[in-house]
Amino acid sequence: MKVHELYGKEFVLSYEIFPPKTPQGEINLRAALGELAAYRPGFISVTYGAGGSTRDKTLELALRIRGEFGIMPLVHFTCVGANRTEIERYIAEVKSRGLTNILALRGDPPQGETRFVPPADGFSYASELVSFIRAINGFSIGVAGYPEKHLEAASLDADIDNLKRKVDAGANFIITQLFYNNNDFYEFMNRIRRKGINLPVVPGIMPVTNRANIEKVTTMCGAKIPGELAQRLAACGNVDSVCDVGIEYSVEQCRELKSWGVPGMHFYILNKSQAVKRVIDALA
Ligand code: FAD
Repeated sequence: MKVHELYGKEFVLSYEIFPPKTPQGEINLRAALGELAAYRPGFISVTYGAGGSTRDKTLELALRIRGEFGIMPLVHFTCVGANRTEIERYIAEVKSRGLTNILALRGDPPQGETRFVPPADGFSYASELVSFIRAINGFSIGVAGYPEKHLEAASLDADIDNLKRKVDAGANFIITQLFYNNNDFYEFMNRIRRKGINLPVVPGIMPVTNRANIEKVTTMCGAKIPGELAQRLAACGNVDSVCDVGIEYSVEQCRELKSWGVPGMHFYILNKSQAVKRVIDALA
């Protein structure tokens, strides 16, 4: 079974995790997955660290997801800092380990830089990586979509034209950047369908759990906090109520997306279980 084959049959729940940096982080992640595995996610995706910093750990963690939890893994991969030969070797390694689902990404410029500069004989855009992987048989390929447009894109339309390049290059499904305003997602969907993109599009969801994570989210990926959510958060007197409001909002957001007809939901769990568990329980 491949990731894209899951969609359209039943509603697909999925999680994104990252390779922990410390032994305690490993313990925490295992405990979180122990709890969240019970909700029978269709797959769990494992991020690829900035600049390839988690190269081996991403694969090891993906194999553990499959071995220990019996859940299908999706490995993220970026073109950052690798030339074609290195990319070819890595993809061959992924395949040799029986991992057949890959999220093909360009990656971000290194910290402090605003422009992405490809390595000599490397790729400039994720669409080139998608073509490259598509030529190697047997992969289900996911790509990133941006309901509020990618930070570097001149306009949403230009960004959607570029998304179309990834689709035409052979992508099988799209996972979106996290967002908090469903109207942005609906507008994005209308526009991509008009451009002839008919792949499953899975919304990325991350409940707000504290003020620091709102700051990080809005600056790192450009997701906007809608006025209504900002007001509800501003009225919170303590840390617990911020978390409660964030979860409450996420439940409302997910309910609405589900009744709109999304094929699944991809939760950015940040290696923790509590917030997402509360959201999924409320949806059930
Ligand atoms: P692209 O699709 O290549 O787009 C990058 C920019 O170039 C966009 O502005 C696009 O409009 C533009 N563009 C594309 N093609 C062309 C063209 N032909 N001509 C001109 N402009 C073009 N990062 C990580 O480092 N590790 C991860 O594990 C990771 N996981 C992610 C998971 C998801 C679901 C998402 C949404 C993002 C993830 N990211 C991750 C972040 C991602 O790497 C960054 O957002 C990155 O800046 C863009 O990657 P991309 O694959 O969308 O790039």
